[in-house]
Amino acid sequence: MKFVVDGMLGKLARWLRMMGHNVKYSDTVDDSQLLALAKNEHRILLTRDFELYQRAIAKGFDAFYVEGGTEEERLAELARRYSIRLEIDMDISRCPKCNATVKQIPKEKARSRVEESTFRYYNEFWECPKCHQAYWQGAHWTRIRKTLKVAEIQVESAEKKEV
Ligand SMILES: [Zn+2]
Repeated sequence: MKFVVDGMLGKLARWLRMMGHNVKYSDTVDDSQLLALAKNEHRILLTRDFELYQRAIAKGFDAFYVEGGTEEERLAELARRYSIRLEIDMDISRCPKCNATVKQIPKEKARSRVEESTFRYYNEFWECPKCHQAYWQGAHWTRIRKTLKVAEIQVESAEKKEV
C-alpha cells in the first residue's frame, strides 16, 4: 500500500515502511505538498490534522485521520481500516529511514559494518541499497514484536466489540 504521512507521524511512517509499505514522509513538506502527493501518486494520506483530513476527503482522496495517542493504537487503527497485517516480513521490508526495499546480504559483508559482538551473535543481515544502513533482528526486536502484538490485541478486541 502507498501512503503519504504528515510531519507529526514520523514514527508511524517508519513502522509502515518496516511492514513493507511504500511511505513518503518528510517533516518539511506543507499541506498543499501532502495533498499533491496524495493526488499525483495515488497515496493514502495519513494525518493528525483534522482540517487537512477534511480537505483531502473533500477533494475525493483516500485519507485517514489518525486519532490514537500511542504507536500501538495508531497501528491498530490502520490495521483495521486498511486490513494491514501487523508483522514484519524481511523479504518485503523497507528501510525505515528512506523507504527503499532492504536486501539480505551475506553475513561476511556485514563484518565491517556492525559491532564484533553483533556479527558473532547474529547470522542474518540486511542492507538498504539507498542509504546503506545495515539491519539485523537484534535485541531491539523484542520491543518491536511486543508493540505489534499489543496492536494486534487491540484490533482483536475492537472487532469483538463490533460483533
Ligand atoms: Zn535506507
